[in-house]
Amino acid sequence: MNNWITPAGFKTGIEEIAPKVYAYVQAFGELGVSNAGLLVDKDGAMAVDALMVPSMTKRFLEAIKKVTKKPVNKLVNTHHHIDHSGGNFLFKEAEIVSHAYCRDEIVRTGMPAEFYQKRIPRFAGEFSKLKLAAPKVTFEEQMTFHHAGRDVELRHLGPAHTFGDAFVYLPKEKILFAGDIAFYYVTPLAFQGHVGNWIKVADRILKMDVELIVPGHGPLGGKKELREMRTYLAMIRREAKKRFDLGMTPDQASRDMKLGIYARWREPERILPNVMRLYQEFRNELDQPLDAIAMFEGMRQLRAEWHGHDAGEPDMCCT
Ligand SMILES: [Zn+2]
Repeated sequence: MNNWITPAGFKTGIEEIAPKVYAYVQAFGELGVSNAGLLVDKDGAMAVDALMVPSMTKRFLEAIKKVTKKPVNKLVNTHHHIDHSGGNFLFKEAEIVSHAYCRDEIVRTGMPAEFYQKRIPRFAGEFSKLKLAAPKVTFEEQMTFHHAGRDVELRHLGPAHTFGDAFVYLPKEKILFAGDIAFYYVTPLAFQGHVGNWIKVADRILKMDVELIVPGHGPLGGKKELREMRTYLAMIRREAKKRFDLGMTPDQASRDMKLGIYARWREPERILPNVMRLYQEFRNELDQPLDAIAMFEGMRQLRAEWHGHDAGEPDMCCT
């Protein structure tokens, strides 16, 4: 059976990680199951990401109500993916802020409920309830909110998990809400990203004055876990390049590579889209989209081979 690494205390809920700064973590961080954050100060409440489907966002909003009476008047999207922005429309009083590319992608993609129903079947019943709510304020490199008693920095360090990633940094508290630039104990997914640059972005964050990192998926951590994730990215990039040069297909390369400890990070079958994306990087074709249908079908096959079943999603049985 599956033997995932599950750190103690990895459970769904809100936690105060500094005065009036909260992390909202969702166990166990698989496809569609992401984290969020909340900052409360005299200027109101600011949420970091909106989660995916209404059952998740409503649970997050309930948790917010328990810690503050202030309305959430700002919402940051760390990137465009549905598991971070699907719930935007439920933050009715919030001005939504993101990197310009993130807004463009949300507008371009729209809300293809049927696509998500097929690819993320665990939450299929909820996608038709989503309404599009795109960010209204955008930035390119950096934006700072000078709130009473707290500076909140939004930064984009170039392509990583997507081409429009932003993280939220609190310099005084030394806290960083990384969005999907950080995956802890859940395999990073690079199907729309740039692995080579993602490694450089991780290196830059490792040099920042940061003590606590809220990843986009997985439990709270810090630089140690970010370094482990960086090691995964560097390893797959190196190993994929060798196999690319030998003329192996991404399917062959994914099966040939040894994942070591990372075989115990959830959703190891993401090696396939990661290798597919790396091959695009090696060919200088990162402006081309990955074939999403082939990617999901390939991951389904890998899951069946590695775990002896081909359930639509891993872990469906027990969460
Ligand atoms: Zn993402």
